[in-house]
Amino acid sequence: MPMLLGAHISAAGGVSLVPGRAAELGCNTAQFFSRSPQSWRSRALDLSQAAGFRKARAQNGITPVFIHISYLINLASADKKLFLSSVEAFVEDMRDAEVLGADYIVSHMGCHKGAGEAAGLARFADALNTIIKKTAGSSVGILLENSAGSGNCLGYDFSHQRRVLEALEDTGRVGICLDTAHAFASGYDLFTASGLAKLLKEIKDQTGTEKLRLVHLNDSRSSCGSRVDAHEHIGKGRIGLVGMRRIVNHPFLKDLPFILETPKDGGRADAINLSTVKELRGR
Ligand SMILES: [Zn+2]
Repeated sequence: MPMLLGAHISAAGGVSLVPGRAAELGCNTAQFFSRSPQSWRSRALDLSQAAGFRKARAQNGITPVFIHISYLINLASADKKLFLSSVEAFVEDMRDAEVLGADYIVSHMGCHKGAGEAAGLARFADALNTIIKKTAGSSVGILLENSAGSGNCLGYDFSHQRRVLEALEDTGRVGICLDTAHAFASGYDLFTASGLAKLLKEIKDQTGTEKLRLVHLNDSRSSCGSRVDAHEHIGKGRIGLVGMRRIVNHPFLKDLPFILETPKDGGRADAINLSTVKELRGR
């Protein structure tokens, strides 16, 4: 089976351009933002863009397709107004994802902003229950991404994902996404074999490895346990080439889609990082 490898792709100019951009980089899977990541402004999905996306995707063989949710959405918020607008925006994005034929929405687990982790997780699970009900019949999956654990953000410990899954009425469409830079910053030393083994055992014990559907493959500029979210080029960070090689070849991970969210500095940054990963694969 060929490696499923992709990158976070710009949707500037319209989503129909995403599959072509991904294919040009040699990707067979891709991720992009549902809307401007820092803006609430929601424009209705342009149906001709959606049709163009589906066509270009089929022509270029890009699958699976992941849509990353906006950073403004906070499903764990104790602020009622922010909570309700977050749920509403998430439902809109799920409907757009369905029209586009995307496979998964990737979501962070939100921040409790001082209300406490238990309260934040309960609110997050409430939000997901509502979203799943409001999008009944949808074929779009929802992936919960682990965090670096900065501030009071949830999801740095896989018991959080387990607790949310346990509180859902229906977990059928819900899985998890592993971000390697976030895992490293939250305290798993992916520079070493034992650090990776510990992380994978944790996932297995908490949610089960079958829930793992996506790896965000990023090196980390910040140190292990720093809780600072700082993505770095593959092999240039503290996980390093040796750590990265172990990750992309690990039997639990190697058949999953890998999406790079590495820095975009310089026009060739994605191409260089993707070719580094391909070189590490199978070695
Ligand atoms: Zn990520």
